Amino acid sequence: MVDDHNRVINYLRLSVTDRCNLRCIYCMPEEGVTFTPHSEILTYEEMIHIVKLCVREGIHKVRLTGGEPLVRKGIAGFIQGLRNIEGLDEITLTTNGVLLKEFAQVLRECGISRINVSMDTLRQDRFYQITGRDFFDRVWEGINEAESLGFDPIKINVVAMRGVNDDEIVDFAGLTYNKPYHVRFIEMMPVGENNGWSRDKFIPINEILDRIRSLGVINPVCRNLLDGPARRYRLEGAMGEIGFIGALSNHFCKTCNRLRLTSCGHLRGCIFSDQKVDLKTPLRTGRDDDNLLNLIETTIRNKPKNHEIGLWGPRKCARPMNEIGG
Ligand code: SAM
Ligand code: SF4
Repeated sequence: MVDDHNRVINYLRLSVTDRCNLRCIYCMPEEGVTFTPHSEILTYEEMIHIVKLCVREGIHKVRLTGGEPLVRKGIAGFIQGLRNIEGLDEITLTTNGVLLKEFAQVLRECGISRINVSMDTLRQDRFYQITGRDFFDRVWEGINEAESLGFDPIKINVVAMRGVNDDEIVDFAGLTYNKPYHVRFIEMMPVGENNGWSRDKFIPINEILDRIRSLGVINPVCRNLLDGPARRYRLEGAMGEIGFIGALSNHFCKTCNRLRLTSCGHLRGCIFSDQKVDLKTPLRTGRDDDNLLNLIETTIRNKPKNHEIGLWGPRKCARPMNEIGG
């Protein structure tokens, strides 16, 4: 379906849970995070029902996110259920990698071949400082397992933070010389009330790119339709790629094709907007599919033209990232 600003909306990010086994400082700090009661979280059956309706409205790609999608019980069966939805062409997953070693095989069997693993540091001690947990080795084992099982591409999401991990930008980029990974630098976003975002910590993608130039020649890679908002580059002679997601410094709203469904059943048109439509209540109170389809269409039509969040502006989204699914 096309929204009121002529954008084709065909991609749904589905947050399957707001729970997580890490406590990243920019997402879900140790203190102050509240969780949705289990009874308010959509069941898998409810999620499948809603995804089917979204597919009728033109969605053909779903990314599973969270919270940490692999901590929710029965996730493999759920993915199988999604696979049976006619018209849904692609299912992908964003994970923190902690459980990836255990799940990689089953994810492949479920037909997932593209994954994003979030990993903000190449240093064990720093991993603990950023995530509050000591799972550095497990994440790397997971990435290695995924590589050996042929996941392609494996995208490594790195949230760049000045004074936290910016001294590793060049090391992360250098990884792509010998590994086929797509390392994607993400600007830290001011989402949630308590995520520690500050202008001082923020690093714009142009600065990240400039720092990487110290490694050698870096060329843009031709974009294709499934690229989403990432600007893609390759260091000359490298196996892998480097991507940049500059939600703040390089608004990509004009080409935004996404909807988001939270684990508590809210459909959202924009990560930075608190506008949401409750699908769970009508679903649980027996409203028919036409009613739900109407709500989905309204959300698509009302998708904000762009977000106005900038380095100086006020926060626009009060809900935390683990709820919305980054
Ligand atoms: N737990 C999974 C993970 O970490 O990959 C999936 C959910 S997480 C919310 C999805 C993505 O959002 C991750 O790549 C994470 O780094 C990113 N993210 C979370 N909070 C962010 C923030 N404040 N700014 C930028 N990216 C953020
Ligand atoms: Fe968990 Fe992902 Fe948020 Fe980190 S970014 S706390 S891994 S949901």
